[in-house]
Amino acid sequence: MSQQLPVIVAGGGIGGLAAALALVRQGFSVKVLEQSPQIGEIGAGIQLGPNAFHAFDALGVGEKARGRAVYTDYMIMHDAIDEYVVGRIPTGEAFRQRFGNPYAVIHRVDVHTSLLEGAQETGRVEFLTSTRVERIEQDADSVAVIDQHGKSHRGLALIGADGVKSVVRAQYVNDPPRVTGHVVYRAVVDKQDFPLDLQWNAASIWVGPNCHLVHYPLRGGEQYNVVVTFHSRKQEEWGVTEGSKEEVQSYFQGICPRARQLIDLPKSWKRWATADREPIGQWSFGRATLLGDAAHPTTQYMAQGACMALEDAVTLGEALRVNGNDFGKAFELYQRSRVARTARIVLSSREMGRIYHAKDVERLVRNDLWKGRTPERFYDAMEWLYGWNVSNCLAA
Ligand SMILES: Cc1cc2nc3c(=O)[nH]c(=O)nc-3n(C[C@H](O)[C@H](O)[C@H](O)COP(=O)(O)OP(=O)(O)OC[C@H]3O[C@@H](n4cnc5c(N)ncnc54)[C@H](O)[C@@H]3O)c2cc1C
Repeated sequence: MSQQLPVIVAGGGIGGLAAALALVRQGFSVKVLEQSPQIGEIGAGIQLGPNAFHAFDALGVGEKARGRAVYTDYMIMHDAIDEYVVGRIPTGEAFRQRFGNPYAVIHRVDVHTSLLEGAQETGRVEFLTSTRVERIEQDADSVAVIDQHGKSHRGLALIGADGVKSVVRAQYVNDPPRVTGHVVYRAVVDKQDFPLDLQWNAASIWVGPNCHLVHYPLRGGEQYNVVVTFHSRKQEEWGVTEGSKEEVQSYFQGICPRARQLIDLPKSWKRWATADREPIGQWSFGRATLLGDAAHPTTQYMAQGACMALEDAVTLGEALRVNGNDFGKAFELYQRSRVARTARIVLSSREMGRIYHAKDVERLVRNDLWKGRTPERFYDAMEWLYGWNVSNCLAA
């Protein structure tokens, strides 16, 4: 049977491509259904922890991804009002030794390209673009995935990697999003347009009352990624709309001039009103399961959404391997191995948002949180997250 029918993957984002690679490594052929006319990614940066590189290695694309990343020397958090250094964590050699892989920043397109090349090289992944999954039917041995033209795609199983507004999740779970009221603007800026006094080889965040700003280098330092986030005064609806420079500038009053420079940099003014969902305990429904943002959509404050999608894919492959490619058993083990870990990211991310955006006395508490903390103690606190790898990914 596995020789005849492919496994269907809904969505050709980072999660879907990683899942395709994991499935091919278990001997399956894969059909990726992507709603967009092209398989691709948006123009923005992303931070990757060592856990992401462990996953790339397990998927056979570690060298490709490492070759495109920028290795930062440290992570740093400044108070955006007075430039006080709240925390500074070295991510050089000692960090790499501790976790066996680097901390890095990278263009999203470069992550996606590394996975896409890997998938194409296998010769076992078929891509269908402009194909939007609308409905799923199942019987005991297969799934039928119906697209917007009414065409049915038959497969052994379905991996719903169709992102934050997952149709697969809507069919099986149908839970509402939790709109945060936080709005994000993102930009990638060429080095010559980026302030000289912020050109640090670091993942850097400025935290202020109800807002924060992030910047880090991309592509050998030739570009910089800029992300600004604030609590909206309006009732927000989840999604992307047109914004304006005037809107952004109205939110960053009282921020120090050095950090304020960042809000003048974006040239396009698309605004993302963000949401997550309450963590759920069941992602697998017969021969269908969820992966990546479809399974555990999160706010971005832990910088781990894509890392978790990569981990999901590796874990799914491992769950299939130890269960002799039995989908029912593998999906159950996969879910059991992933639910608590990814829910921890969703919940920690909400808490991190609160820490970032603290004001008044809460701000003073935030600024004292990590006073005098040594790198080793920071690393110990990160062990649960960055210590993940293919050999410990499955639940007992
Ligand atoms: C501002 C911001 C910053 C972030 N920073 C980081 C970071 O630093 N580090 C990190 O690890 N993560 C970060 N993330 C999170 C990360 O972007 C996501 O978690 C990750 O992209 C999820 O990948 P995915 O493949 O699950 O979903 P997506 O990237 O959303 O991919 C889903 C794909 O499915 C397609 N699709 C959707 N519906 C259908 C359908 N019905 N049929 C067919 N195709 C469909 C879409 O077109 C898309 O190609 C950040 C997110 C935001 C918003």
